[in-house]
Parts: sequence; structure tokens; C-alpha cells
Amino acid sequence: MEIIRIQDGSWRIEDEGVRFFLLEGDENALLIDSGMTVRNAKEIAEDLTSLPVSLVNTHADPDHIGSNEEFDSFLMHPAETVNYCNVQQRKGRFVPVEEGEIIDLGNRKLRIISTPGHTPGSIAILDEENRVLIPGDSIQDGGIFMFGIMREFQAYIESLRKLEGMSHLFDSIWPSHGSLPLDPAIIPQLIDGAERCLNGELPTKPASFMGQEIRIADAGVARFLIS
Ligand SMILES: [Zn+2]
Repeated sequence: MEIIRIQDGSWRIEDEGVRFFLLEGDENALLIDSGMTVRNAKEIAEDLTSLPVSLVNTHADPDHIGSNEEFDSFLMHPAETVNYCNVQQRKGRFVPVEEGEIIDLGNRKLRIISTPGHTPGSIAILDEENRVLIPGDSIQDGGIFMFGIMREFQAYIESLRKLEGMSHLFDSIWPSHGSLPLDPAIIPQLIDGAERCLNGELPTKPASFMGQEIRIADAGVARFLIS
């Protein structure tokens, strides 16, 4: 685990290949995801900030919810609770966040953008003042998991198109995996790669993930892990 300050009031916490974020406003602080191997994300955050810390999850895959039980409640898109409760078998009290909602940390407004596809209730978070997009797993230059029951490739492409349409609002992308920061120019490249993947036009190679036979489709800009 490594804690890196990105800029004033923004940290990334690197946890074995996945990262989560702590953002501070004037009045409140927000953890975006809670780690994969760590179980003390709240404690880590409270060492970095003196402000009250709450938690929002970009989605409920297991590498993003490690410390959720530390919180009495957490923010999550309602469409993600099936993943959290039924697939990941975790418990907790949800506060729903939906498309267009603003979380104001005090002179720092974060806008919730619904981005279904990678999972049904995936969200991206737009830090309006700092012109940063935090997209969870939807935008990255690593391996994007698109196999299994939660994934919907066509919806994923539509979510990327939606984010592309908002790209005048951000200059920098902070993903959960791979390189950080990313330039918004990656979005049209990902859309092109995802469309070619859906059409079976990308080279694939077989792989296995936790006993499941999958294929890895190489889009150059990223890889899609598909069934
Ligand atoms: Zn992830």
C-alpha cells in the first residue's frame, strides 16, 4: 500500500494494482472506493485529513469495496446493490446516488455520472472545479473486465459515448487501474476498440481468471477481458 498526494486535497492510495482516492473540500472529505486488500481505508483517510470522511463506491467489484464495512453507510448507485449483496455477498447500509447528483465537499462539487456497462451501477465522478474525471474501471489503459454476469458491452460503449460528450468539462482522468493521469483523448480510442471488440474484429488470446476460461482482446489502448 502506498499513499501519494496528487495535488492539494487529493490523494491516491495504491493497493496492489487498484487505487482508491481521498478528496478534501473545505468541510468534508470523501473516499472514492475502499481498496482491495486493505480493510482500514477509513483509518488511512483519517490520518490524512481532519475532516469527516464518507465513502462512495464507483462500483461493487471486490477490488473496490475492501473496507466498506468500516463505514456505517456508504454511497452507491442503486443498480449496483445486486452486485454488492448478491454477487459479492457483502452487507451494508446504502445511501443511493444517482445521475446528476452533486456531492458538495465545501467549495468542491462532485457530480455523479451514471456509466452502466462494466457493471450495472458503475458511476464516474466529475470534480468540476479541478476539471478531473474519476471513472472507476470504465476508462483505463489496463485490462477491463467485461466477462461474467454483470457486464453489458453495448451499454458500456454508450456510457463511453456519454463521457466523450462531456469531455469539455475535464482535462484529466484518474482511473482505478493503469496509468494516471490519462488524457481525455483516450475515450474515442476506447470507444473504437470496444466497438471492434463487440464486432469480433480484435485479436484475442485465451486466458484463465480464477478458474474461468476467458479471452483477452487487445485494443492497443487497453485490453478487454471477455468470455
Ligand atoms: Zn477494478
